[in-house]
Amino acid sequence: AKDVGKNNYQVFEAGMNIAVERRHRISRNLALAIGRTELTLAYQPKVAIASGGIVGVEALARWHDRELGIIGPEEFIPIAEDTGLILSLGEWVLCEACTQMKRWEAQGEERLQGISVNVSTYQLNHQNFVEVVKGVLEKTGLEAGRLELEVTESAVMQNPERACAILTELHQLGVKIAIDDFGTGYSNLSQLKRFPIDYLKIDQSFISGIATDIQNAALVKTIVAMAYNLNLEVIVEGVETEEQLAFVKNLGAHMYQGYLCSEPLSVEEFQQFLGRTGEK
Ligand code: C2E
Ligand code: CA
Ligand code: CA
Ligand code: CA
Repeated sequence: AKDVGKNNYQVFEAGMNIAVERRHRISRNLALAIGRTELTLAYQPKVAIASGGIVGVEALARWHDRELGIIGPEEFIPIAEDTGLILSLGEWVLCEACTQMKRWEAQGEERLQGISVNVSTYQLNHQNFVEVVKGVLEKTGLEAGRLELEVTESAVMQNPERACAILTELHQLGVKIAIDDFGTGYSNLSQLKRFPIDYLKIDQSFISGIATDIQNAALVKTIVAMAYNLNLEVIVEGVETEEQLAFVKNLGAHMYQGYLCSEPLSVEEFQQFLGRTGEK
């Protein structure tokens, strides 16, 4: 029994090495994947709750590595942030999303008012972020008002002064700003009042049990009511059932995303989805 502690430590150490090794591989392979076909965007429709019509789309990064298989953004985005790779990855995502939005416009697709792109903390705080966005809009020819940037509450709160200045500059260009994962951070709406925000996205963790969880329901109700006061539109994430939809509709939320309408789709699948839902 004397060796148990030692053995446990060896198991622990081996586990650590595997985790470290995986991170190394991910950052190395991800660096090579940017700009190649291994890295793609998935598109999830955004639905207006009152009409049930599609009004927008969010672009979400997808990665299929030859060696490691499919790796989700919840795993590779944090690694990309730690290594600074997020700058080139983020610029690629922006460029790809804006290019795709232009294609849909060229097809005469009038339902999509804009495309949403996620922006990480590191990107937002990087000195030339505004220039990167401007550059992408110029290069792709997308009108600024068709681009929505989603920044998390925690990204904004890390350095509120700076975030406010940057978001204001972007907003003056015409770019729309959404606060993502709202409700999970420590800010409140009064702190966000001075920020140039167009949309609040309520985190999906509040929606899953909304029809039965009184606390979550009350919280969502409060957020929607305050958003109305501040002239913000509310997008609810992670709506999976008709019951949840009826609930958030009743609270006055404007838009939703979620499996009830569609999971994020490849560009081909999204095209089919537009065709299917466009039939009269
Ligand atoms: P997010 O921006 O909050 O995106 C919503 C996530 O919820 C997506 O996961 C989406 O697939 C998932 N989702 C959508 N509808 C439902 C639903 O009804 N039920 C459930 N359970 N989930 C739903 P995904 O694509 O795995 O992305 C995870 C996170 O990774 C994103 O959360 C975002 O924070 C980050 N991410 C993804 N792509 C990018 C990117 O291009 N740049 C940056 N910086 N972050 C990204
Ligand atoms: Ca998002
Ligand atoms: Ca979110
Ligand atoms: Ca999230």
